[in-house]
Amino acid sequence: MRFSSLSHLECPQCGLIHDADQVIGLCTCGSPLLARYDLDEVRAGLTKDSVSSRPADLWRYHELLPVRSVENVVSLGEGMTPLLPLPAYGRELGVERLLMKDEGLIPTGTFKARGAAVGVSRALEVGVRKIAMPTNGNAGSAWATYAARAGMEALIAMPLAAPEICRREVTVVGAELKLIDGLIGDAGAWIRSELAAREGYQDVSTLKEPYRIEGKKTMGLEIAEQLGWKLPDVILYPTGGGVGLIGIWKALLELKALGWVDGPLPRLVAVQATGCAPIVQAWEKGLPSSEPWPDAHTVAFGITVPKALGDFLVLQAIAETDGCAVAVDDADILAAQRRVASLEGSFICPEGAANFAAVRQLRESGWIKPGEQVVALNTGTGLKYPETVPL
Ligand SMILES: *Cc1c(COP(=O)(O)O)cnc(C)c1O
Ligand SMILES: [Zn+2]
Repeated sequence: MRFSSLSHLECPQCGLIHDADQVIGLCTCGSPLLARYDLDEVRAGLTKDSVSSRPADLWRYHELLPVRSVENVVSLGEGMTPLLPLPAYGRELGVERLLMKDEGLIPTGTFKARGAAVGVSRALEVGVRKIAMPTNGNAGSAWATYAARAGMEALIAMPLAAPEICRREVTVVGAELKLIDGLIGDAGAWIRSELAAREGYQDVSTLKEPYRIEGKKTMGLEIAEQLGWKLPDVILYPTGGGVGLIGIWKALLELKALGWVDGPLPRLVAVQATGCAPIVQAWEKGLPSSEPWPDAHTVAFGITVPKALGDFLVLQAIAETDGCAVAVDDADILAAQRRVASLEGSFICPEGAANFAAVRQLRESGWIKPGEQVVALNTGTGLKYPETVPL
């Protein structure tokens, strides 16, 4: 059995197939590419039980990840984060079976480490030695950190308003940092013009390379495994670029194709802040993709993405799973952050708190029904956002 059963890359927009063993960005049609695996090979060679006896990190799913050789794995021990019951907060909301997948307990403090671990490993494998990306902060700190571990150079462009700790994380590992007076889209424009003048960098912006999503999909694999290969009713995800949500959907479809899970997929919920809710707006209007959101602003900085490249995939994922998209305001986000901390002893990030504000809203509206099992991702530790809580 091969270490990875990666077979090729496929365009979800035009259907074109691409060779995976090259440095590649978007499809010729402009769409992100998705990694495809030989699932017959995985089904024949791997069982749920053999996965469960492996070390507790995301590489336990290596057949379903794109890195072909174990020598190229760049790891800081990421993955297999706790899936914690929140009985007190759940009772308050009337959602007794509320669980939190806590991504605060991972290198660099956010789930961005998953995408960075797999993305950097695979980039190394296909010969990339320099990476560049725009970021709202957490992706930049994660990719710079894993690049350092891999011996790669990293160029990171970040809005001035991003959490200060992310700047320090990028700097301490020796990456090059450019601060941008603007939003993530402006940082992306700077990276594109800068790379036109430099040699040898791969642009690893969100969904512009195909492997970040493979790292993030391990959240979906872990949720299934941690629930004994039984799927919950609802999964909520704080949506910026939407990579985590698309990744979880992809993971669940792969598990289904393997025959490792059955029944309906969980209803996937894209949660955004009212100050930046392009996907919610598109969902409510029944559109296949989103319009750029003007004057984006929210305390949940990691989901301040006015226009996501993969918006059409997010909308497809929520439509096909009978999910929905909801927006919550900053006051409710901060209230949920404090309530989860005081009732459950967990200091979550504002993006994660947006999910819990959304659980409350969806239970009140009846969209979440009594007795349903609900998983909310806390995408990072509150320790990265000390200024969001009072002294
Ligand atoms: C990046 C980020 C998100 C949003 O992730 P996407 O996959 O881009 O939608 C959510 N929470 C935190 C803490 C983040 O850093
Ligand atoms: Zn295409």
